[in-house]
Amino acid sequence: MDFFVARKGRTVIKLVIAFTIVFQMNMTPIASSGFAKELENEPKEEKKVSDLSADNREEDKNEESLKRMESLTEGIGYLNVSLIGEAMEAFFKTIPKPEPTIKEEPKAKRNWSFKYKKAVTWGNRSTNAVALTFDDGVDKKSIERTLKALKKENARCTFFVTGVNLSTYAGLWRQAVEEGHQVCNHTQNHKMLEGLSNDKAIQEIRGWEKTAGEVLGQEYLTRMKQDFPFVRLPGGSGNSSSRIIKIVSDLKYIPVGWSAETLHSVISRYDKKKNSADTIAKSVANHVVGSAQNGAIILLHFDSYNTLKLEYILKTIKERGKEIRPVSEILE
Ligand SMILES: [Zn+2]
Repeated sequence: MDFFVARKGRTVIKLVIAFTIVFQMNMTPIASSGFAKELENEPKEEKKVSDLSADNREEDKNEESLKRMESLTEGIGYLNVSLIGEAMEAFFKTIPKPEPTIKEEPKAKRNWSFKYKKAVTWGNRSTNAVALTFDDGVDKKSIERTLKALKKENARCTFFVTGVNLSTYAGLWRQAVEEGHQVCNHTQNHKMLEGLSNDKAIQEIRGWEKTAGEVLGQEYLTRMKQDFPFVRLPGGSGNSSSRIIKIVSDLKYIPVGWSAETLHSVISRYDKKKNSADTIAKSVANHVVGSAQNGAIILLHFDSYNTLKLEYILKTIKERGKEIRPVSEILE
């Protein structure tokens, strides 16, 4: 046992001394030595041939130093292993560590006032950003395509998904939340609220919350009600109704309308039998890009017309100097 500890101790102290020498002689920056590289788990860089010969010279020098120190430390034999451990620890503390990646700037909590008399249709018009919003969530392929495009282009959006569709594609909506998107209330069954009694309208909104709690978790629901308490009324029914807006406000929601949409302005104008989805999608893309002014809230749906050209939409909006942000980040 003593023999083993002594052997181990000797090897470790030689390493410490060798590193110290390398460091002091300023031969090789310590972070680029092989040992440190493994610790830091940095990607290995490819070396040019000229660099390699320089490295060999460095290695020769290191070898020399090691041999020199070996002769100096010959006979020490045994040292307190914990002291060596401390020395190593102190030594490696001097190696600069990469900064942790901060995904999102911490934001001050907003105190939403629920002051709206009608559904909000624009964000702050002096902000250099637009909000793309996606509704319903019926088509699985389109949801997947949307998530993929948003991830690729590093854009975060607000989704208004019905309770029914939350349950159907639970995994995809959980993925959406993990990827930084906001999944908000679009009622449980997509009924036009203006045609419902107060109680039934409340049930529709509360029903969504129950489903969201089951699918996305209570913690998510609490965060949503605090940080992005948005509802989009199905079909815009109730957007200007004081009765429906009061119900929504009492439930601590901000009704979110839109400054531009694609269903009535573009898609329904096409004959689907005579035009391909691709043709319609191109037209949708041009309309969205043209509508992406400061503070715009643009309503899209999870369908092929709205999502086939989504990458182009995202790229073009960004190329024109605008950011794409969730609704909570563009409202005044
Ligand atoms: Zn809808």
